[in-house]
Order: sequence, then structure tokens, then C-alpha cells
Amino acid sequence: MKLSLVVPCYNEQGNVPLFYEAVKNDFDGVDFDYEIVFVNDGSSDGTSAELKNLLSGEIPVKIVNFSRNFGKEAAMYAGLEQAAGDYVTIIDADLQQRPSIALEMARILDEEPEYDCVAAYQESRKEGGFMTFMKKSFYRAANAFTEIELMPDASDFRTFRRNMVESILSLKENFRFSKGLFTWVGYNTKYLPYVVEERATGESKWSFKKLLAYGLEGVISFTTFPLRFPVYLGAAGILSSLVYLIVSLALRFGSHHALTAMNAVITLILFFGGALLMSVGVLGEYLARVYVQTKGRPIYIAKEILTNEEEGKNG
Ligand code: UDP
Ligand code: MG
Repeated sequence: MKLSLVVPCYNEQGNVPLFYEAVKNDFDGVDFDYEIVFVNDGSSDGTSAELKNLLSGEIPVKIVNFSRNFGKEAAMYAGLEQAAGDYVTIIDADLQQRPSIALEMARILDEEPEYDCVAAYQESRKEGGFMTFMKKSFYRAANAFTEIELMPDASDFRTFRRNMVESILSLKENFRFSKGLFTWVGYNTKYLPYVVEERATGESKWSFKKLLAYGLEGVISFTTFPLRFPVYLGAAGILSSLVYLIVSLALRFGSHHALTAMNAVITLILFFGGALLMSVGVLGEYLARVYVQTKGRPIYIAKEILTNEEEGKNG
């Protein structure tokens, strides 16, 4: 068995040597092979040099140097592509996620064949009340609007079996929201509670603005509802124009109120406003299909195919 650690690094010069040492200590004496795949996501500090130093160490190391900063999503994809292990762990460089937990994850996959992935989740968030509230609300909204169910508080810190890695790599969409993709591919995931450590050195790369954009990406990647929404609004507009017309006519004949030009104008505005919105929604329906199709996700993912046919024998 071989385990690959995939480590996205963006300006982590202080953490790279610490991370390497931590792995060396925690993995000391394990009875399987392992490697570290560092993806240097266009760091502007000394990360690249620190990584190069590790090539002379005893742990097998692979380094992917990006030409610029492409973001953690791209770094994770590149790392999964380069990882050769039967098990692959995605883990941050800042030691907020202890490498020893990756060992625990691998042990679970060894002992519990029904699971294809072990994902760490934070039992209690260390962030302030506002951030916790925002993240909770995000997951609630995402789960309500999208086709996938996200586990709140689960991170990208996960260990996959090889077959699941291949499935994730088969999703080639450019706008990636991995937490959603990990769920989308299916398989059985075991959630493992863990405690997030303080960052060893440096600062978090996530600003509130970045998180907001990331969250939006997550929802948009997994639902086409916003594109189709105008259909409902338009239908409501047309319906209310009809109701308004009926009420106006009823008043005209019931109590001999004169029909005014205003009645006609309001009816027409509601009707054509609704008709326009509905047409936008119909366009949205088509666009939604184009959008889904261009992502080129597989139609299905088979976990395994069983047969009692002997190989090479037909019929
Ligand atoms: N990271 C990256 N590219 C980026 C931003 C972050 O590869 O554009 C890496 C970063 O080096 C770290 C991991 O992603 O190893 C998580 O980033 P960070 O610690 O800033 O996030 P947080 O732990 O605060 O959620
Ligand atoms: Mg971090």
C-alpha cells in the first residue's frame, strides 16, 4: 500500500520545513510506502526554494510549481493528478491539520472496506461568532438550493481510495468547488471529527470577500435554479395580470364602475412584464442544459462492475 499526501502551498515558506518534519516524525516506522506531492501555487515568497531543499531528504517528494497563483482548487487537482498512491490525502501545509490524522484515515480505509473516503470535520469551530454564523447559513442555503448535500464543517482534509481519486479527476470542469465534487462523485464517506490547530506560521489566505465568492461558486456549480427562476416570476406576472383584468371587469359590470385607461395599462404592463420574464426563464432552461452539458460530468460513476462471466469467454 502507498499513501500520497497532496499539499497545496501558497506563500508557506515558514511552514514547508515544519510540515516535512512533522510528517517525518508522525510517519516514522510505518509499514507502508508514502510520498508527499507539494503543489506550489505561484507563491511569491521563498516557498519554491524551501521545497527544492526537500528533494535531498529521504521522503519521496514531488513538487509541482505553478506559473502563477491559480487557487487552492487548481492546486488540489494538480496534486491529485500527480499522486501515485493507493490512498491519497489532501492536507494543508500550515499544520492546522496534523499529518498524524492522515495515518488514522488510512487505517480506517484499511480496516473498513465499505468506506472509500475519510473526511475530517471540525467538531467545534474556533472562529468568531460571525464567521461561524455565515458559514452555517451558507451550508443551509447550499443544501436547500443545490442537487448535492454538503456536510457542514467538513473540510478538504480527506483521504480517498484510488478509485475515488480517478472519479474526481474525471470531472474536468474549470470552475471547481471540490467540497461539492467530492460529494457529487458518490461513494461512501466516513466523517472523522478533528481539532483544527493554530496555523504554524503565516496568515490565512482567505478573506471574507474570497470566501463569499467561493461560496457563490459552490452554489452556482451545483444548481441551475437562478437561470430558471424568471419562469416562476413571469408566470406570477401573467397570472396577476389576468386576476387584475377579471377584478376590473367584475367591478365594471357589478357596480358600473367605468373601466379606465389605467386599468388597461396596468393589465398590459403586468401581462407583458410577465411574458418577457417567462421568455427569459425559457432561455434560462436551455442555457441551463448547455451549462450542465459543457461541464462534461460523467453520466454515471460505477463503483464496481461484478460478473460471473469468465474473462475472454463470449456468450
Ligand atoms: N492555498 C493555496 N492557494 C491559494 C490559497 C491557499 O494553495 O490560493 C493553500 C495554503 O497554502 C494552505 C491551504 O491552501 O496550505 C489552506 O489555506 P489557508 O490556511 O490560508 O486556509 P484556512 O486554513 O484559513 O481555511
Ligand atoms: Mg490554514
